[in-house]
This record gives sequence, C-alpha cells and structure tokens, in this order.
Amino acid sequence: MPISLHMTLAPFAAPAWILNALTGLAGIACGLGTSHLFRRDHPPYHTLEAGMHALFSRHVPAIAWSVDQNLRIVHTTGSEGMLLGFHFQGQEGAAIGALVEAHHRLAFEQQHEAVLSGEIRSFEGLYFERYYRIALEPARDRHGTIIGVHGVALDISEAYALQNQLARERHIDALTGLVTRMRLYDRLAQALLICARNQKSVGVLAIDIDRFKALNDLCGREVGDQLLRAVAERLRSLLRKADTVARLGNDDFAAVLLNIDTAENGATVAGKVITAFQQPFLILGEQIFATVSVGIAISPFDGEDETILLRNALTALSYAKISGGNTYHFYTNSLHETLSARMTLESALRIAIENHEIVPHYQPLVSREGLVVGYEALARWEHSVLGRIPPARFIPIAEENGSITALGSQILLQACHDIQRLQAEIGRRLRVAVNISARQFDEPLFVESIIAIIQSSGVDPTCLELELTESMLMRDMEGAIHTLSRIKATGVSIAIDDFGTGYSSLSHLKRLPVDTLKIDQSFVRELPEDKDDEAIVTAIVSLAHALNMHVVAEGIETPAQLEALLKIDCDLLQGFFFGRPISLEQTLATYKDLLIYSTPAEILERQAH
Ligand code: C2E
Ligand code: MG
Ligand code: MG
Repeated sequence: MPISLHMTLAPFAAPAWILNALTGLAGIACGLGTSHLFRRDHPPYHTLEAGMHALFSRHVPAIAWSVDQNLRIVHTTGSEGMLLGFHFQGQEGAAIGALVEAHHRLAFEQQHEAVLSGEIRSFEGLYFERYYRIALEPARDRHGTIIGVHGVALDISEAYALQNQLARERHIDALTGLVTRMRLYDRLAQALLICARNQKSVGVLAIDIDRFKALNDLCGREVGDQLLRAVAERLRSLLRKADTVARLGNDDFAAVLLNIDTAENGATVAGKVITAFQQPFLILGEQIFATVSVGIAISPFDGEDETILLRNALTALSYAKISGGNTYHFYTNSLHETLSARMTLESALRIAIENHEIVPHYQPLVSREGLVVGYEALARWEHSVLGRIPPARFIPIAEENGSITALGSQILLQACHDIQRLQAEIGRRLRVAVNISARQFDEPLFVESIIAIIQSSGVDPTCLELELTESMLMRDMEGAIHTLSRIKATGVSIAIDDFGTGYSSLSHLKRLPVDTLKIDQSFVRELPEDKDDEAIVTAIVSLAHALNMHVVAEGIETPAQLEALLKIDCDLLQGFFFGRPISLEQTLATYKDLLIYSTPAEILERQAH
C-alpha cells in the first residue's frame, strides 16, 4: 500500500486510547533499550517478558526508535509490520530518512534535526493519508546534552476513519442526505458574512410538514420515512444550488437563501415551496398529500447571527402553524410576545379544563310578551392571575388544540344541570341554548356524546337548544342534514347562530331541520338608522317565518333597537338591554328582577315618559 506522509498538522485530536498506547509503548521501548527480541524471524521466547513484547509487536501498529546525532538508527522497538512504509526492525545503523517514503524524507529529517539542535523541544504531528501520530523528543545524556532523538509513530488510520465517519454523520442526515442543523449553522454563518459584504440579505426558511405526526401514526414509520426523503428531494430541487437545505430533525427542515434583495424575495420562495406541495407524493404506490408551513426570517432585520435568525424563522413557523398551516409567515418582533402569551394561555387553558374552572354564565332570552323564556349559556373563565379571559380568545385555542371537545362537554353538562335548577326555582319551563363549535360538530361521536349528556344529567331534551353556525353546516350539507336530523330526533332543537354573516343559500336553509335563526349583532347595531340593515333583518324574519322558524335578535342594547325589532316582528330578544350574561348564582338571586312583567312595548312606553 502506498504510504504518503505529510508533515502537516491535521485538525484532529487523538483519542485518549491512542495517547495511552503511545505512552505505554514508549515505556516499553525505554525499559527494554534493545531490539534483538523483536526480529521478525523471532526465536522461541525464553522469558515471559520476551513473549509479551513479541505479542505487543505483532498487534500494536506502532514503532519507536532512537537515532544518534547523525540521525542513524541506534535502537528500534515495536511492530514487526510495516510502519511509515518500511520495516523498522533490524535497521540499526541505517539513516532514519531512508526509512520513510522519498518525498517525505527531507521533512522527516528536518523535524529530527530541529529536535536535535534544541530548536524545538519536542514535536508531535499527525500524518496522512495513512494516518500516523508521531512524537519526537530529544535524547539526552546524564549532563542534559542532546545526543540523539527518540521517536515514536502510531498508525491511527482506523481510528481516524471512524472519527471521520462520526463527524460526517454529525453533518449529514442519514435519512435524507441533507445537511444537519450543525452544518446549517456553519453555512448560515458563512452566508451572512458573504451577503453582508455584498450588501444583500440572507433569508432563512423554517419548513414543517403539516400534521406529519398523524400521518406517521396512521400510515406507519416506513411511509413516514419515505415521505421525509421525498420532501427533502422536492425542497432540494426547488431551491438554487447555492442555497442550503437542511433537515433539523423529525419533520423540520430549513433552507438558507443567499443574496436576497428584499423580504418579498423570501416570500416568493416560500410561496413556491407551498405551491410545490400541492402536488401529491407517490409513496409505496399510494398518493399522499402533504402541505407545509413556512416561517421566514431575513437578515439583518430579523437577526444578524445564525442562531437568532434560525430561531426567529422557527418562531414565525409556529405562527404559520397556528394560523392553520399550508401558509407562510414572516418573523416580526411582536411575534415572540404574541406566541409566548399564547403558549402561557394554552397551558393555563389545559389546567382550567382539567379543573373545571370554565363555567357557563347565562344571558336571558326574552319573548315579545316580556317573559324570560330561556337563557344562552356563555362560557366564562376567570383566571386567578390572568383575570377574565373572553371566549373569543380561549375558544379558538381550544378548537385548535382539540380541547374544545372536553370543554364543550363540560359546558353542556353543566348547562343541563343548571337549567333544571333554574326551572325548579323559577317554576316554569325554560330553554337553554348552548354554543357548539365546528370541531365538536365534526367529532364522529358528536350525537352520541349529546345523548350521553342528556341521559346522565336527566334534562328534558326539549329544553335544550344547540347553537351552530352557518359555515359549520355549509361545508358538508348532506352530512349536516344527517347529523341535525339525528339530533332533532332526540328532541333537542337547533339554532343557527350569527345568522347573516355566513353564506348559506336560501335553498340550503330550506333543507336544514332548524328551529331558530339568531340574527347577528352586526345587523342590529345600526338599527334603526341604517335602512339597509333594517331591510336585511326584515327579510330574514319573513324568510324564517315562511320556513317555520323562530327569530332571535342578538345584541340589543338600546330602546331604539328594541323598538325597531319589535316592529319587524322578531320573536325573541337578547342583549345587554335585558341583561348581561351572569353566573348561575347571580341568575338565581336576581331572576325575579329580570322577569319582565310588562311587555317590551310597555317598557319602551314607560321609558319615553
Ligand atoms: P355568540 O354565541 O354569538 O354569543 C353572543 C355574544 O354576544 C356573547 O359574547 C355575549 O356576551 C355577547 N352579547 C350579548 N348581548 C350583547 C349586547 O347587547 N351587546 C354586545 N356588544 N354583546 C352582547 P361572549 O360571551 O364574549 O361570546 C363570544 C362568542 O364565543 C359567542 O358568540 C360564541 O360564539 C363563543 N362562545 C361562548 N361560549 C361558548 C361555548 O360554551 N362554546 C362555544 N363553542 N363557543 C362559545
Ligand atoms: Mg351563541
Ligand atoms: Mg351569536
């Protein structure tokens, strides 16, 4: 095997075992001081020590030597095999330079001379392409005068190859062949330097496959791995050669975009990535659709060093995910605050649901005759530190992380118990309307869970109304009709909440088994001044009546609004004018005041005077 011996120091630290082996070898060499026991045609060993040295020389790829002032070999000890290209054993008297390959000879001799002259006290170097660790030291007589050089060389090629392989694994992701996070940092740091010099920006895209975990769980690891490989390939083919694509771990990828002129360039690439994922992947003969979310950070605005830039791209990515995925989001300074506030809220919410801290409050529904005929249950969360958190903030989070199913059931069950207490107290039939979110409605066992709650609470199902929104029903009309019919069959009635804000067509409305339309507050707010709103509300009321439905007007705050709605023939009225949502205890304590013994028309009359 050709051996080349470079006198260059390689950037490599020898593992501890090599150093130990070297030290051990040096010890043996010094202690022994002779080489005749180490001839290759070794005679039978007469001592234990001789046998031990022979074994050592056959199995440890190392050699030690001493040279005199003329660089001629005095002693050698160590391996019987070839080292540094030659058999050292039995070379006493030969010039040391003659024992290494010709083109390294000069350098090798010079190192010895430098040690000999005292110019360098000791020398230690690493030589490749077969890798040797070589140490040289001056040999001194008893007065301290340098009389020669001791040298030792250890073949560390195998250890070096192993080390290289490990280093490669640290830099290259085994599954996808992309670079790892570690290498990405290097490339990013380099890119930042180069681009800053060219007065350009560097863009970092953090990319994550939407719902990858679910896919992995559902289709198995093999499919998951194949998808990751295919995603890596698609990303690589999308980006320019000079750009870097890395796998950060799991289904997290990142790309470094060089020489970006404006932030819009980053958005263009992110948009390209998202569009490219509209094409399905063919994995093990199956078509798999996978969308991605992308977070974008651009230097120097979103960070001037690699760590901050990548971190901010990941923050922006979380935001893109929260926004529902299949989208990209830029990093902004306020994102961090928004996200950490959200994370605080999310964990507080989880605890609140576990501890049943979110409870329904009740807002009265009033008839034209002035009678409280029921209540809408509205979720209320009073946090000990964060204070009152409105449903508009926590319901969307609960929807997104799936805890709405548990929360919705808690509210519904509590409302079923509470309405029975209210009925007992007030002494007549009342109805409670409970809001249902889209995610609850989509649960495969939604109807079963309603039935279970009705049964366990013992509520009369005809006292219960579920409020759904138009958009929930319009996504899948046939499915919605089927689910609503099953609910209706239990005796529970159905209201469409916030009516007028969705896009339900009249033909659809006709087919839905719905009892009540709740006119959205936005149409009530400008009454009676806004004649368009008045026309819309009038149309909704006559439509509802034609379809045999009731109409509730939400958000009534002023006598003028009430008057307009009474004229329009609204059936039920709800709003701060009659009462804000309050707790069960407050409702029980004040329902007598709330009971309106005169008609709204009479109230208006009285207020006019
Ligand atoms: P929504 O179902 O349309 O509820 C009516 C909202 O209007 C309530 O807000 C109520 O407090 C408010 N409101 C009532 N009268 C007036 C008024 O005269 N003026 C004004 N400005 N507002 C009035 P809230 O309680 O903040 O609830 C907001 C939304 O959160 C609800 O809208 C509903 O969509 C959702 N939500 C509340 N509780 C629950 C729940 O238990 N489950 C689900 N899924 N959603 C809920
Ligand atoms: Mg509602
Ligand atoms: Mg509403």
